[in-house]
Amino acid sequence: MEMPEKKGPVLERFQGCMLGLAVGDALGMPLEGMRASEIRKRFGRVRDFLDAPWRMLAAGQWTDDTKMALCQARSIAARGIFDPEDTAREFLAWYESRDWRGIGGATYESMRRLQEGALASESGMRGEMAAGNGAAMRIAPLGLLDCLDLERLRADVEASARITHDNNEAVAGSLAVAYAVARAARGDLEPSTLIADAISFIGPSKVAERLEMGQRFLDQDMDAGEALARLGTGGYVVETVASALYSFLRTPRDFEETLTLAVGGGLDADTTGAIAGAISGAYNGLYYIPERWREGVEAAGEILELAERVFALVKAR
Ligand SMILES: [Mg+2]
Repeated sequence: MEMPEKKGPVLERFQGCMLGLAVGDALGMPLEGMRASEIRKRFGRVRDFLDAPWRMLAAGQWTDDTKMALCQARSIAARGIFDPEDTAREFLAWYESRDWRGIGGATYESMRRLQEGALASESGMRGEMAAGNGAAMRIAPLGLLDCLDLERLRADVEASARITHDNNEAVAGSLAVAYAVARAARGDLEPSTLIADAISFIGPSKVAERLEMGQRFLDQDMDAGEALARLGTGGYVVETVASALYSFLRTPRDFEETLTLAVGGGLDADTTGAIAGAISGAYNGLYYIPERWREGVEAAGEILELAERVFALVKAR
């Protein structure tokens, strides 16, 4: 299968983004919380979905990252635009289902606020606790929807992130991810300048500083495991976003290599995998995701259909 070279939005890139996100989440799911050294010792390089009986999840199942990204995509498909209140209702319906699969602290608290009647513009958590990756992990559908209008992307991403994470670093991290997805989805992402371009889009922030560090590690051709250890792979958005973009840029044309590297960093492995998978999937297109992952990931049909509905909206704009 040829990589879609055409400029402008292409369905395969939209589907690659959404399915890539789910695949990265599912690949990292059983590794969440483990150290990179432990993963290496127990599994070597993880190239297959694994069962996680302690989470009551089977091989190929994904976590809150994909749950929330699908909420975002479902709202976009239903409303035809980004609608913060409708997005918040989708998030809340998921929360009330109690199928949480590793819900983060800031998201949990903001869902309680929504339940008590808060508006989407006031439900987000503030302070240190809100600098987690819980907004960046689910933001990819907005990168698809707004790929042709980066100023609209900026406004939509900020409003969506703040539903749960009313924190400037969480917003900066979400913007960086959505920006990369948008450039990939419309076919003009240039790997050699992605980090510089993303930094000028998001502005001065700790996220920008960590991304710059990632670019230096790429330029130095540092050992990839060492680079991820230094960038960090925890739940702090500054770490996750830098490690995910680094994993993509280390091997931009190799989805499988990007994902095995990203989840091998451990700790918040599902989220690093989800973000790296969304970007690499959008850049390479659906058919560059290995078949065993495309077929083994939970709810692939539903995910591809949602991606197609978002694509139809963009084509109609
Ligand atoms: Mg998760």
